[in-house]
Amino acid sequence: RRAQFQALRELPPVTLDGQRITVMINAGLRDDIPALDVTGADGIGLFRTEFQFLVSATLPQRERQQRLYRDVLDAAGDRPVVFRTVDIGGDKALPYMNTEGDALEENPAMGWRAIRLALERSALMKAQARALIEASAGRTLAVMFPMVSEPWEYHEARALFEAQRTWIAERNRMLPLSIRYGAMLEVPALAEMLDMLLPQLDFLSIGTNDLTQFLFAADRAHPKLAERFDWLSPAILRFLARVLAQGRAADVPISVCGEMGGRPLEAMALIGLGIDRLSITPAAVGPVKAMVRSLDAGRLRNAMKEWLAAPTARSLRPQIAAWAEAEG
Ligand code: PEP
Ligand code: MG
Repeated sequence: RRAQFQALRELPPVTLDGQRITVMINAGLRDDIPALDVTGADGIGLFRTEFQFLVSATLPQRERQQRLYRDVLDAAGDRPVVFRTVDIGGDKALPYMNTEGDALEENPAMGWRAIRLALERSALMKAQARALIEASAGRTLAVMFPMVSEPWEYHEARALFEAQRTWIAERNRMLPLSIRYGAMLEVPALAEMLDMLLPQLDFLSIGTNDLTQFLFAADRAHPKLAERFDWLSPAILRFLARVLAQGRAADVPISVCGEMGGRPLEAMALIGLGIDRLSITPAAVGPVKAMVRSLDAGRLRNAMKEWLAAPTARSLRPQIAAWAEAEG
């Protein structure tokens, strides 16, 4: 099987009916960079910048951040890299960050984390913005913000980046060719505001790990709940279908970067909903590519529409698995 995936490395993820699926990897550390070439992925769809902060004994200074980002971009070459600004706070607390006076959190996943923290501790985000912009001199920077719940958070974060771009431009330093801004859809409330937000976005990325925990109000780390709510439940799939339709109407590219996309059957369902961009754990690239190359996406889309219109079970898993079996 390993040899089979090895051979797939050079082959593009194209479905039987000719749809090219973009398959990228999730990464976060310098050690992850070689996975790009090993897997033959199309790029890095989610670079979790907080990893550098989490493994460090002290706050990584701007120069150190910049070195990492530049090395990642150098290794990626022409392949796109999407940097996510720090998703720290909550259960990813930094020992060296002064949080004295901040409330203890009973529900850290729903707490003061990610963009909520970054907008308030803006010195942190400004340093990161400058590191990202300077590391991307002469190329395209793609940046996205985690845990956006309301459009204003995205607007503020983007304005903070733009202010740093202006600051650098005023000093006549080399700028990125362009900056592409995106938001992560992880908080269900944002889905209700997409008509307002999408026109302001260059792309949207769905974080299905947090999104499903908030949709079902089920802790993603709780062992008793891990199996209870299925990624292939009609509620999740219908939710995603609606978001995708809005993205299509607004002509904004949408990807999925949660772990859901790294499981072949789940990835198949996502393609059946109309997703054509996945960012997944490197080990899943081979299996997902193999699935893509044996899939008739158009036929699956039609079948999924029918199943989702009148779901007969709490999960579509049996139907999708049977369909996959029957179609080869
Ligand atoms: C997600 O929530 O799906 C996601 C990709 O972000 P993380 O797993 O880092 O929270
Ligand atoms: Mg998340």
